[in-house]
Amino acid sequence: MVKNMKTKILEAFEKVYGDASGAKVYFAPGRVNMIGEHTDYNGGHVFPCALTIGTYAAVKKRADRKLRFYSMNFTKVGVLESSLDDLSPSEEAGWTNYPKGVMWAFAGRGMKMDVGLDMVIYGNIPNGSGLSSSASLEVLTGFALRDQFGFDVSNVDLALIGQYSENNFNGMNCGIMDQFASAMGKKDHAIFLNTADLSYEYAPLVLDGAKIIVTNSKVKHSLVDSAYNNRRSECEKALAQLQTVVDIKGLGDLSEEAFEAHKDVIDDPVRQRRAKHAVYENQRTIQAVEALAKKDVDTFGQLMNASHVSLRDDYEVSCEEIDILVEEAWKIDGVVGSRITGGGFGGCTVSIVKDEAVDTFREKVGAAYRERVGKEAEFYVVEIGDGPYELV
Ligand code: ADP
Ligand code: MG
Repeated sequence: MVKNMKTKILEAFEKVYGDASGAKVYFAPGRVNMIGEHTDYNGGHVFPCALTIGTYAAVKKRADRKLRFYSMNFTKVGVLESSLDDLSPSEEAGWTNYPKGVMWAFAGRGMKMDVGLDMVIYGNIPNGSGLSSSASLEVLTGFALRDQFGFDVSNVDLALIGQYSENNFNGMNCGIMDQFASAMGKKDHAIFLNTADLSYEYAPLVLDGAKIIVTNSKVKHSLVDSAYNNRRSECEKALAQLQTVVDIKGLGDLSEEAFEAHKDVIDDPVRQRRAKHAVYENQRTIQAVEALAKKDVDTFGQLMNASHVSLRDDYEVSCEEIDILVEEAWKIDGVVGSRITGGGFGGCTVSIVKDEAVDTFREKVGAAYRERVGKEAEFYVVEIGDGPYELV
């Protein structure tokens, strides 16, 4: 399977650029977040895992300073050219703003490429569905640069560089979760990450008698990025007001009790609800990981459900289509938990479903979605994979 993928991408490289000799092929995964949503820019905890699907690249150094990019997922735009002397974001650069941003971020840290590259990209992860194809593309680019140019960076650095470039080159104020999950993924494990200090632990996530199912709503509402940046600034304002009465660095430092005791200092009711979500979601994530360690998957599932309600009502990042997927899932016997995953406003849900209910889940949720939304949902049984690697 992996060998076929390597061959497929090298064949494309040869077709597009003429000669694939000496090209190397790399992979970086997408991710699904089990719980801990919109906590990663609030100094809270998250619990994502890397997927076995993600993004591949064939990469070959050039003799000059040119950069050439081709995505097998965006064949219509063809080869997009640029240069090491033009590492600035532009509309014409389209999707290549992601790899270019990573090159720019490396250069900003003193790691300058001395020659350009030809790249072919192929992703088997749906774009824009909340499974972080963008983070996988960033981590993939960083991993390839490290290998090609011998840059001295750790996988955590690859995550930080990816986030930095997405924030400052692509204008998306994402937290660290997506890039961290992609760069630090471990087969059959989720990552319990404290975003306040980047301390983390791997937790085995092989469920006895149940599967993790990602359901793609196939909708993505516009203004996702602006709404995301807006939530972020609402939380920053709420934090600043809380900091006038409590000594905290982020909303993740507050217990539920402390939040309830001090919440009235946040003078705007909407911002108060945003902060409430960040505080409670962080505590839910800690409790969920504790429950999982005790093999109490039912409690884990209930916390996932509570996470959804909070994201729907307090944080307001769900949408009708996603709520339908989750509500229909909750109706089915054998569904342990179900919630929106990723940034929101469309994208995917993540559910834990007992083995014997998996077929019913697909049928019933699929039929209800077809009837109520008029679209075909897509279902993926998740396999948890490793972080980035070279295909040898
Ligand atoms: P998500 O990260 O949830 O998948 P984003 O909107 O953050 O959604 O990122 C999607 C964007 O990332 C795409 O529009 C494209 O610009 C870029 N991208 C992701 N995968 C690929 C790919 N295989 N080829 C080219 N660009 C890609
Ligand atoms: Mg993204």
